[in-house]
Order: sequence, then structure tokens, then C-alpha cells
Amino acid sequence: MRLVLLGAPGSGKGTQATSLKTALGVPHVSTGDLLRAAVKAGTPLGLKAKAVMEAGQLVSDDIVLGMLEERLAQPDANTGFILDGYPRNVAQCAALESLLARIGQPIDIAVKLEVPNELIVERIAGRAAAEGRKDDTPEVVRDRLRVYAEQTEPVAGYFVSKGKLATVDGVGELSVVFDRILAALPKA
Ligand code: AMP
Repeated sequence: MRLVLLGAPGSGKGTQATSLKTALGVPHVSTGDLLRAAVKAGTPLGLKAKAVMEAGQLVSDDIVLGMLEERLAQPDANTGFILDGYPRNVAQCAALESLLARIGQPIDIAVKLEVPNELIVERIAGRAAAEGRKDDTPEVVRDRLRVYAEQTEPVAGYFVSKGKLATVDGVGELSVVFDRILAALPKA
């Protein structure tokens, strides 16, 4: 299964991806996690990305695409993957399509988790307390939500145009949302 998870920051993509990877037996590929690992390791790309991430803006398309390509070339991604955090804008949709065509692994479905903004803000405040992410402060969260609305919302339209978008209500217990996602996936 090759799945893209869409949804605002704090919509539960990361949490659901963790359960989905066990259920589907494919790795969770999060561009945010890849970037945070590069920042932590102090690689040249990580150094470039750090300030942009801390400001809640998008890292350059080239950097993220390069990291993604490298990750998808790992053997565990041969049988599929759950993509979380990519594509993040319309240009990345086209880049993803050509990368996946090249490796013969087209997306099966994109699942969009829908959560109202008030709840998103509440959830991110809880995550900030628990995880201490630098980009979870109220000011940066506001910018991340703006970037999401302006640049990432249109990504759903791209998958609609491909006949590959499933919309899932992301409000409720983790297990309830998880079952909704499973029900939205194409039958193998
Ligand atoms: P996330 O963990 O998905 O919320 O991502 C955290 C931050 O990493 C984002 O606010 C961006 O700065 C950066 N990032 C993650 N994925 C992408 C992407 N596909 N394109 C550009 N920047 C990204």
C-alpha cells in the first residue's frame, strides 16, 4: 500500500501513521521527521533547514525532495509506504508524481484527516507541553496554519483530480479515527 496522509499540523497524521505502519506493514515516511533528524545530526542540509522550520515556513522543495528520494530508495520502502508531510504544496505534487513514476510506485490513495481549527490549536498546545518542539509555540503555530491554508490545502485538489482522495473525519478517539482510515483504503 502506498498511502499519502494529508491534514493540518496537529490533525493526527503522525499518530495515525504509527498505527497504520503496523497494520499495513509498510514504513512511515515523515518529511518532518527526516528534516528534524538532519537538524539534530547537524548535516549541511539540516543547518539550512533549521531556521526555516523554526519559523514555521516550508523548507525548499529541492532539499525535501532529495531527502525523500533517498528515503524511498531504502529497501523497506519497496513494498509501499505511508507518506506524512509530503506533498506540502502543488509543486511537490508534480515532483512526487514523477519520482514515483520513475521508481514504479504510484500512490494508491491520499487520505485527508479533517479536524476543525479550534481543536487543532488545542491539540498542538498539548503536544508543545509534551514534546517541546520549537515550532509548536503559539506564534509559530499560527504561521504554520497559515502556510497550510495557503500552500498545502490545494494539494487535496490535486488528489481529487487524480480520483485518489478520501476524506476522513479526524475528530474522535484514536482508534475510532484509525478504523475510519482503514475503511477508506482501497481493498487489496
Ligand atoms: P511536520 O513534522 O510535517 O509538521 O513538519 C515540520 C516542519 O518541517 C514544517 O513546518 C516545515 O518547515 C518542514 N517540512 C516538513 N515537510 C516538508 C515539506 N514536504 N516541504 C517543505 N517543508 C517541510
